[in-house]
Parts: sequence; structure tokens; C-alpha cells
Amino acid sequence: MRRTAFDDRQDRQVVNEIQANSMSCPGCGTFTPNEDLSNYGHRCGACFDAFCRAAGTGPIPKTRNEKRAILDRLKAAAGAKPSRAWAWSLRQREFEGVRLGRVQKEAWRAALSLDLADEQEES
Ligand SMILES: [Zn+2]
Repeated sequence: MRRTAFDDRQDRQVVNEIQANSMSCPGCGTFTPNEDLSNYGHRCGACFDAFCRAAGTGPIPKTRNEKRAILDRLKAAAGAKPSRAWAWSLRQREFEGVRLGRVQKEAWRAALSLDLADEQEES
């Protein structure tokens, strides 16, 4: 619709949205932080949950532990291969005497030390 006059209510809403780093959810109109809109496909959290229920996907994992539980199930289903298998493979090749490039050597060491950091964090 073409605007022909100043609309105080609409323009004030636009200014408020810009200043608050938030926008109205297109689904329900709830004032929602831009970060949430970005995470939930331009919807508020409630509309996103409703969207997921309608799609039959069940609740969406939000916490780190919920995501980790799903990852563990996927790993188990895939035969429990160790994570960063490429790094373990490069490490094995180096120990077998294969000459690796500098980047390869640094990469497997960095990847496996990250694994150690993750394990220390959990305990
Ligand atoms: Zn909404």
C-alpha cells in the first residue's frame, strides 16, 4: 500500500524496533529480539515451537546437554566412531612414518588437544 501521509503510530513502531534491536514477530506480533528472530527463522520462540509441532519434529533441542544427547545417539547409531577421526588418522599416519605437511601436523594436534579440553570441561 502506498503511503500518502505521515503515520505517527507506524513510524513510532519502526523507530522503537530499531532502537530496541527488536522487531515484531510476523506470526503473532510479539516484540522479539532480533537475535531470536534470526535463530528461529524470522519468528518468535513460541511461533517457532508451534511451527515445529506442526511439522511433527517434536521439541527442538535448545540447551547444550539436549544437543549433546542427540549427538551421542547419532554417534551410537553410526557405530560409535571416534570424533575427529580424520585427526586420529593423520596422527596414525605420522607415527607410521608418513611425511605430513606442516599444516596437517598442526591440524591434528590442534584438533586432538581440543578434544582433551572438551573432556576436561565435562568432568
Ligand atoms: Zn510469534
